[in-house]
Amino acid sequence: MIRSEKTEYLRTLYNFSCGYCGVTEADTGGYLTRDHFKPLTKGGRNSIDNMVYSCAHCNQSKGDYFSDDHQERLLHPLHDNLAEHLHRDEDGFYHPSSTLGAVYVRVMNLSRTPYKCST
Ligand SMILES: [Zn+2]
Repeated sequence: MIRSEKTEYLRTLYNFSCGYCGVTEADTGGYLTRDHFKPLTKGGRNSIDNMVYSCAHCNQSKGDYFSDDHQERLLHPLHDNLAEHLHRDEDGFYHPSSTLGAVYVRVMNLSRTPYKCST
């Protein structure tokens, strides 16, 4: 697949929103970025099944984080049920409800001010 095909595939797969925090293209006013779930620097592959459609905030917060440890691993938006590990309050803040949820909130810096749609 060429680059734009990958992006289009991810946009559809993630319903035009960030896999990590849920912010949408409409919220940010443009395309989101592609994150390598397992960073290339940690041996991750540059393939579609290692990519998560991600907003710039999440991509930056995550950086090159990766862990195989079952207590420290990052939840995957498609392979894990995020709702089992964290919940979102009415103001848009995420709160962990498990150990892995806490890792997720910490790594993704989800205690940041939630993205507010400006329009
Ligand atoms: Zn995000």
